[in-house]
Amino acid sequence: MADCAYWEYQISLALDGELDPDGGDRLTRHLGECPRCRSVREAFEKSAQAIRTWPIRTLWPD
Ligand SMILES: [Zn+2]
Repeated sequence: MADCAYWEYQISLALDGELDPDGGDRLTRHLGECPRCRSVREAFEKSAQAIRTWPIRTLWPD
């Protein structure tokens, strides 16, 4: 079985746009055969959206 901790790290890199195309291909292949990592990616995507929509100006107003 593949090392899913490694793939979770690759997923976080991919969401940050820091994964090279070759790594992206291998990640896509792993996601195709690993439901666990697909759900991890969904959770990461949700949390990434939460960070993007964080009301940062309420923390540091002008
Ligand atoms: Zn996996």
